[in-house]
Amino acid sequence: MSELRWRLADEERDGQAALFDVDGLTGPERGTGRLSGLEFLHVTARRILNEVPARSRLPFRWTINVYRGCSHACRYCFARPTHEYLGLDIGEDFDRKIVVKINAVERLRAELASPRWTGEAVAMGTNTDPYQRCEGKYRLTRGVLDVLADHANPFSILTKSPLVLRDLDILTTAAQRADVTVNFSIGTLDERVWRVTEPGTPHPRRRVEAMRQLAAAGISTGALIAPVLPGLSDGPDQLREVSSAIRDVGGRVLGVLPLHLRPGVREHFLGWLAGFDAELHADYVRRYAKGAYAPKHYAARLRALVEAGHEIDFTQT
Ligand code: SF4
Repeated sequence: MSELRWRLADEERDGQAALFDVDGLTGPERGTGRLSGLEFLHVTARRILNEVPARSRLPFRWTINVYRGCSHACRYCFARPTHEYLGLDIGEDFDRKIVVKINAVERLRAELASPRWTGEAVAMGTNTDPYQRCEGKYRLTRGVLDVLADHANPFSILTKSPLVLRDLDILTTAAQRADVTVNFSIGTLDERVWRVTEPGTPHPRRRVEAMRQLAAAGISTGALIAPVLPGLSDGPDQLREVSSAIRDVGGRVLGVLPLHLRPGVREHFLGWLAGFDAELHADYVRRYAKGAYAPKHYAARLRALVEAGHEIDFTQT
């Protein structure tokens, strides 16, 4: 493990550094049963609340990510480069070697008890999925929710997993004390596209069903239609299908975003796409020739298709 470069270990999208304690590292522990094929690296976090740099323009200031790496294994995942900082690779290692902040719940309890903490909203799921498979074993997200509920601290969750329903009891209690939102990302309901692009995630229909149950329980919920993949999930019928499904179960459509290919993710995703469909690969190389973002007019077209007479609540994204 000594080759792991921990100094920048928590240089996440939300930009914090050196939050792991190298001395607290143990593992790897090999997963068994439903977790077989996965490895878990246990670390002691120095801090669990990450402050998002003001320049980020994200709609939240504080985040918690109890895991690093994600067994949901989405081909396009923007968080993959966070594994590179660890000396691990952004492909299979990101999908299979999961860093677990084993003391997350105790840390949070201490940090929320500090007189310096002012009770600002906390976002979860900003970097890796808090309800990825190993949450069934570690229950760290559940522990974090419990502490936030005890402190009547507002929070939001973004996930691709119906495992969040396991914690409906805590969510219901927390929502009586503070603002609580549980959002999903659902890029498509197209079975074929889902299978090849998000191979480790629960079926997107199960996310829609989870949204229905959350809405029925009075929990604020919605979904971000993202990422939309040109030539794979951007057909008008595909977009209408997913936006209608969200609305039909009482969820809000929070926005629609085309694929973003930051450096590192770009090479990983395009490498996969080249093997999947050479023609599509050539099309993506053209589309993303100028950088990480899809052209503005393309994003506007997606938005127009999804709005279709409905308001998109971009304040919630
Ligand atoms: S669920 Fe989110 S964090 Fe996990 S691999 Fe997919 S995009 Fe990445």
